[in-house]
Amino acid sequence: MEQNTGHGKKAQEKEFVREITPKAVDYSQWYIDVILKTKMMDYAPVKGFMAIRPAGYALWEKIQELLDLKFRETGHENAYFPLFIPHELLQKEAAHVEGFAPEMAWVTKGGSEILTEPLVVRPTSEAIICDFYSRWVQSWRDLPILINQWCNVVRWEKATRPFLRTSEFLWQEGHTCHRTEEEAEEETLKMLGVYKEFLENEMAIPVIAGRKTEREKFAGALRTYSIEAMMSDGRALQAGTSHNLGQHFAKVFDITYLDQDERLKHVWQTSWGVSTRLIGALIMVHGDDRGLVLPPRMAPTQVVVIPILTRKDRERVLLAVRELKGSLEKDFRIKLDDREEYSPGWKFNEWEMRGIPVRIELGPKDLDKGNVVLVRRDSGEKEFVPRDNLGRRLPQLLEEIQKDMFKKADEFRLANTYSGSDYEEFKTIMAEKRGFFAASWCGDPQCEEKVKEDTKATIRCIPFDLETDSNRCLVCGKKATASVYFARSY
Ligand SMILES: [Zn+2]
Repeated sequence: MEQNTGHGKKAQEKEFVREITPKAVDYSQWYIDVILKTKMMDYAPVKGFMAIRPAGYALWEKIQELLDLKFRETGHENAYFPLFIPHELLQKEAAHVEGFAPEMAWVTKGGSEILTEPLVVRPTSEAIICDFYSRWVQSWRDLPILINQWCNVVRWEKATRPFLRTSEFLWQEGHTCHRTEEEAEEETLKMLGVYKEFLENEMAIPVIAGRKTEREKFAGALRTYSIEAMMSDGRALQAGTSHNLGQHFAKVFDITYLDQDERLKHVWQTSWGVSTRLIGALIMVHGDDRGLVLPPRMAPTQVVVIPILTRKDRERVLLAVRELKGSLEKDFRIKLDDREEYSPGWKFNEWEMRGIPVRIELGPKDLDKGNVVLVRRDSGEKEFVPRDNLGRRLPQLLEEIQKDMFKKADEFRLANTYSGSDYEEFKTIMAEKRGFFAASWCGDPQCEEKVKEDTKATIRCIPFDLETDSNRCLVCGKKATASVYFARSY
């Protein structure tokens, strides 16, 4: 008798579906249900903090592995800097300290002694790193400095949401020094490009790259660039930023070098980062009512093999799936789920919820025919493949899934991108549909402020290649100086 028949299986399946709130009912609850049910994180005793459990951390490790490779290819090295920053250092750059002051966590006591100078837990590391760079950089021969750090940072947030905004998060922060402004600008844009390519090619998330407005730029930067992704509820998520710091920090931290012309000059700097919020983006862009959907290149497990066991054929089916796993594990990240205390139907749901891109089913009938069944997580499509052909078909299928997932996300983005020059229409769309709204803008921060008050939307970025029909500001009607995307964001 097959185990996956009868009422038991149906009841189990219903149980699964019931535990994840449908997106359409309550999007925020859907998100929380998915991350808790898939055991990606757990809440900490301190509000706003969390434990990242193995299922979530494996995704962060994948992000690290793939991005670190790209950082090295572009000439960067990893290093590590201290967690605590003397307050005096943070105060040096006025805009920087002002920007981060509301979120700083302090250390005021060491052991039993009150510290004469309180320390700040790094909210970002420009200040502490610039202190080191002021000693490490002496001559033009020391440049460029191309260093990245993988670490945690702390920003005392009032409203938090797992992965998307937490008081402590993991990230990488690149910090570079250059001889000229052009070199620094080139680096800033190069790393923005690295992020864009990573999100689109590996995470299957389409993004818009552009410059931040003065109001939205990084505290202390000359110019900030970002990539903006659209989540499946139409809200934007800033997925990565790259800053041209100009000489703002170099001047206050006195980072100078003796140039070839024997003159002492300040360096030009950049910093750039992505964080564990990318995990939130991955969940929200691709996930569905059954749980996670992971793109094959990001999935810690790409393929799960599930035997359909019957009492009569148990031994030969188990032997076959073990052989199958053995023959595929050198080329694919593959798991065999041969637990006998769960029915195949239960396992199908479990692995679907966890977002594994491909499931291989193998039962006695398949064995007799020399086939296996492949099931795609993204579309639910099934196909029968001769076992001998599996080594050729599987990589093709994973590649198809990767491409289709990007395409689906991109189509969603386009379908939810609006444009126009009518402010009332814009307000209605932001209230009812969300999405991105392309429009012209005069450059005045007061118009940005008004939009935020009226709709909660902000200018996400000034894209490099956006053209809008009108040359009048969406808000005030004056002559426009830029084409921008407005959206509500996480
Ligand atoms: Zn205006």
